[in-house]
Formats: sequence, C-alpha cells, structure tokens
Amino acid sequence: MVREGDPADSGESDLLRLLKIRRPCYPVIRIERFLIRESFMEEYIREILKQLGEDPDRDGLIKTPQRVKESLSFLTSGYGEDVDSILAGSIFEEEHDEMIIARDISLYSLCEHHMLPFFGKCHVAYIPKGRIVGLSKIPRVVEIFSRRLQIQERLTNQIGKTLMHHLKPYGVAVTIEAIHLCMAMRGVRKRDSLIITSSMLGAFRTNSKTRMEFLNLIRGSDRHKW
Ligand SMILES: [Zn+2]
Repeated sequence: MVREGDPADSGESDLLRLLKIRRPCYPVIRIERFLIRESFMEEYIREILKQLGEDPDRDGLIKTPQRVKESLSFLTSGYGEDVDSILAGSIFEEEHDEMIIARDISLYSLCEHHMLPFFGKCHVAYIPKGRIVGLSKIPRVVEIFSRRLQIQERLTNQIGKTLMHHLKPYGVAVTIEAIHLCMAMRGVRKRDSLIITSSMLGAFRTNSKTRMEFLNLIRGSDRHKW
C-alpha cells in the first residue's frame, strides 16, 4: 500500500475524504465501500502490530498488513461461495444404492474463537436414493465450509446437512479428525490431541450396521501424511 506520511498524523484517509466529496451514486458507493473495507483492514493490522510492541514500518513488516489481509481474505473466501448453486448443477439421476465414500479429504480451517488454524482429514459417505453427486463436489463442499471462521462441530454438521438436503439420500455420514493450533500452541499445549467429530444422518444414525461399515472403511486413514 502506498502511503504518504503516517495516517495518524494526516487525520482521515484520502479514501474517506473522497467519499465525502463525491456525489452519491449506487455503484460508486459499492466500490468505495469495498475499497474502504480493504483499506481499513490493513490499517487495523498495522495497529495490531503496534499494540504488540512492533514497529510496522520496519523493513520486514512494511508489507505485512497487506499480506495478512490477502491471506485472511483467501482463508475466509468460503463466505463468498454459494454451496447450493455448486451442488445444484452436479446432481445426476443414477440407480445406485451402495455406500459411496470420499475418504481422507484434506481440510484447513480457522477456529472462530482464536482465529488460529485447525487442520486434518474429513471423511464423507452417503447412500444414494436415485441421485448421485459429481465426486469432485464433495471435497468442494468441505472446502467452502472450511474457508470460514468455524468450530469443528458446526463444520461437520454443515457438510452433513447440506449433502442430506441436496441429495436426499438414505443417509449421510461425516467425520472430521483435526489438530487445533489453539490447543497445540497456547492454552493446554496438547500438541498431538486429535479432535474427532461426526455427523450421522438417516441410515447412518438409525442403523448401527451401516454406521459400523462406514467406520471400518475409514479406519487406517493416512494421518501421518498430514
Ligand atoms: Zn480455538
């Protein structure tokens, strides 16, 4: 970001001044709101660096606000994606009623309590009732919900309920195994604690044999490859 002098000295930003003098016009306001939001984010990150006792103007940190902004925007890009429309165009009629499993889907998310990463593997299964979904769409659903501020329990349920809603299958099962850096780096400092959550819907909830079949099939997932 190009800056002339310290914004703390110059008062309001050029962008704010521009907004005040420009006549209201819907598209212009929308673009300016976006620019202001983007610009504010960098200012806030600069301020956080100062509050941490750092000098945001030193060489190593000068571009950090911009990098952090871009990184956070990417890691939360799931807010701007519409799962419903992605799935709607990828569901096909098919007479197949055996369990379909997408195993070892890599998952990276940010915990909403500390905004620190949690990461691991997600396993998804469903038993179709005349409708199947393109295989690449299951990891896509996992990715979209992961790229938001999350808690692991809600993420697991959102994936399960979304597939249940769109596919209307006999059942959906979702399991997530993840390590939370907020536990590993701070707080209780349990470095290797694995948090496991599951969402069992339809036949996976009501039929213990179906549930066991799923759990057996995901056993031995490649944790060492994380
Ligand atoms: Zn946390």
